[in-house]
Amino acid sequence: MAIEKLPSCDDVNEDGLLPVATARAQLAHRIKALKKYERVGVRESLDRVCADPVLSPINVPAYTNSAMDGYAVSASDMPASGERTLPLGGTVWAGRPLQAQLPAGHAVRIMTGGMMPAGTDTVIIQEHVNASETEVTIDGLTPAGRNVRKAGEDILAGEEVIAPGTLLSPAHVGLMASLGVSTLNVVQRPRVAFFSTGDELRALETHAGQTLGDGELFDSNRHTLFAMLARMGVELIDMGLVPDDQDATREAFKQAASCADLIISSGGVSAGAADFVSDTLAEMGDVSFWKLAMRPGRPLAFGQVGDAHFFGLPGNPVAVMVTFYEFVKPALLRLMGATQTEPLTVSAKSHTAIRKSPGRVEYQRGILETAADGQTIVKLTGKQGAGRLSSMCQANCLIVLPPERGEIQAGDIVQVHPFFGLV
Ligand code: AMP
Ligand code: MG
Repeated sequence: MAIEKLPSCDDVNEDGLLPVATARAQLAHRIKALKKYERVGVRESLDRVCADPVLSPINVPAYTNSAMDGYAVSASDMPASGERTLPLGGTVWAGRPLQAQLPAGHAVRIMTGGMMPAGTDTVIIQEHVNASETEVTIDGLTPAGRNVRKAGEDILAGEEVIAPGTLLSPAHVGLMASLGVSTLNVVQRPRVAFFSTGDELRALETHAGQTLGDGELFDSNRHTLFAMLARMGVELIDMGLVPDDQDATREAFKQAASCADLIISSGGVSAGAADFVSDTLAEMGDVSFWKLAMRPGRPLAFGQVGDAHFFGLPGNPVAVMVTFYEFVKPALLRLMGATQTEPLTVSAKSHTAIRKSPGRVEYQRGILETAADGQTIVKLTGKQGAGRLSSMCQANCLIVLPPERGEIQAGDIVQVHPFFGLV
């Protein structure tokens, strides 16, 4: 048997950068589901992860019923050839079963969803009969058992309907309601602390509408992070702005680690004189990886401070979003106990040529659309600069260009990670 080799920081490429695939494998290895659960009502379970198997307490359908509007008979009363007229023993509506025992040799008029009376096993659709108020003339062409939904045909009582690790969607909410399940165990929401670093930053909370001084800019990353995290339904701890200063960074790490399962910072993660995040991580915790073979997002620190996982995202606003979707979101889904954590990959035809040099993964902002001929194509959003959040506003996917790929020609197939999903 092959011995599994754990990905390590030494698996760097010739530029000293860690391949994205190795970083992903490290995350998968390091981040385990929280072992904290809570019981919630079905409506509250939306976007949460199911902790225990949900078993159906009932058969679905609960009783054998008609799949069509027609006449319920016993197959033994159907003629082998020609026609036969049977007396009618009443009408069955959905939710209004026959009250009395149906006499042998009788048929009943039955509506879709109506409970099959004891003694009947086949429904002949109304278009295939001649009927009056009191009798129905049938032929023998409908196979025995046709047009009937048997009790337990879809789900048997006791059967697992939702597996642990399932991220619950509106369909799951409806399914549980259909089974009479009103509460379930889910994994607790991860607590996520986040802050921005940078002396140049001014907070919206204190500086909105004010004129910025030279070299100052509004902190947007904390608000983008807030929005992306809010969508994931995690518990948010907004720690505000942290100046470019070793002591302040240490203090922020300490505070965050005391209350969060995962910490996210933006900025200060390069090797410049004002970048304190990676050094503080190395000093107070441990660094799993730092420099990835990707663009944007090359300086991306990942490690651990106390019991909390830590992501030091780059400062560039687009890089924040790309690294969040590609690394933080799968990590959060892991913490939440989800079994499906990686983004959906879709193939599309590139509308234009895309410049790219081999050696690293590149994420470009794309617009996925259906061309007039029905093919799925992807266009680049205009300017792709790492600071341009407007390009993220236009985009509905990331175009993921793997390390080995060079220039993309118009018409080449590329892979994309869509931002959207139906549920
Ligand atoms: P840094 O990685 O700290 O050198 O940041 C890189 C660049 O990203 C900075 O020069 C800023 O232009 C930008 N930046 C960093 N943090 C933020 C933030 N919180 N909001 C908006 N832009 C930021
Ligand atoms: Mg900075």
